[in-house]
Amino acid sequence: MLQSKKTILIVDDTESNIDMLLAILKEYDTVVATSGEDALMILKEEVIDLVLLDIVMPGIDGFEVCRRMKKNSEWQKIPVVFITAKSDEDTIEEAYAIGGIDYVTKPFKPRELRARVKTHLEFQSMVQHLDFIASYDMLTGILNRRKFFTLSQELFDTHENVCAVMIDIDRFKHINDSFGHHSGDITLKSISQSIAQNLPNKAIFGRLGGEEFAILITNIEEATVMKLIEKVRKAVEESEIILNDTTHVHCTISSGVAMKESMTKTLDMLLQKADNAMYEAKEKGRNRSIFRA
Ligand SMILES: [Mg+2]
Repeated sequence: MLQSKKTILIVDDTESNIDMLLAILKEYDTVVATSGEDALMILKEEVIDLVLLDIVMPGIDGFEVCRRMKKNSEWQKIPVVFITAKSDEDTIEEAYAIGGIDYVTKPFKPRELRARVKTHLEFQSMVQHLDFIASYDMLTGILNRRKFFTLSQELFDTHENVCAVMIDIDRFKHINDSFGHHSGDITLKSISQSIAQNLPNKAIFGRLGGEEFAILITNIEEATVMKLIEKVRKAVEESEIILNDTTHVHCTISSGVAMKESMTKTLDMLLQKADNAMYEAKEKGRNRSIFRA
């Protein structure tokens, strides 16, 4: 995977330390924070690949910054390397216990520090790459089943107003049988794009398997979601799928929409409700959306 230049956040309240670290790490993009408060603010605004974190600072100290990072789903995977003059075992043990990946003591040894940073960044790239492979459907580029369920479960657990949509491509088997599996793949890609382009940013959209897709949206009214799904249905119906130079086809989708209510205790129950509605849409003649309260 191609990597752009990595960005390191240096957090230290002592200016001379910052100057030294900047000199040692000049091959990287660097951002500097002089307090824990500063560091947390920068994390909110910038994409950081690794944090070099001083432990002893007035205000929010390095340990507390690290604890907060590890509780935040966006920050918890950023490697934290502690930098400090302290080298007693209690401090070192604590640094690892709260989620630090490494520990370097002052005064800095430039070559050793560079080697450690390089190793952690390489490891981090690998983790990111594996995370990408584990989260996205390689054919369509949208979320895969596993990631869809992970993200959906988080939303289901934290929101009252949750809407699920199950989508199935109509007569997909016919495409595969008539034009071959390569044409089936093109169709899956094209339709998932048509759907994705019409969804709001907050929607979670994944391929559950085969020609089956699902959407989860929070804080949306029944009327709004039905309008949205109708727009999606039309977009798919109208888009021309180019299978090869001479074969262009149109496909349709059937959708089932369901809202979480007091009886919907689990995510599975909500998706099942949407799935039942989707089958009803199929039975009623396909190319339509059915709402199940
Ligand atoms: Mg300090």
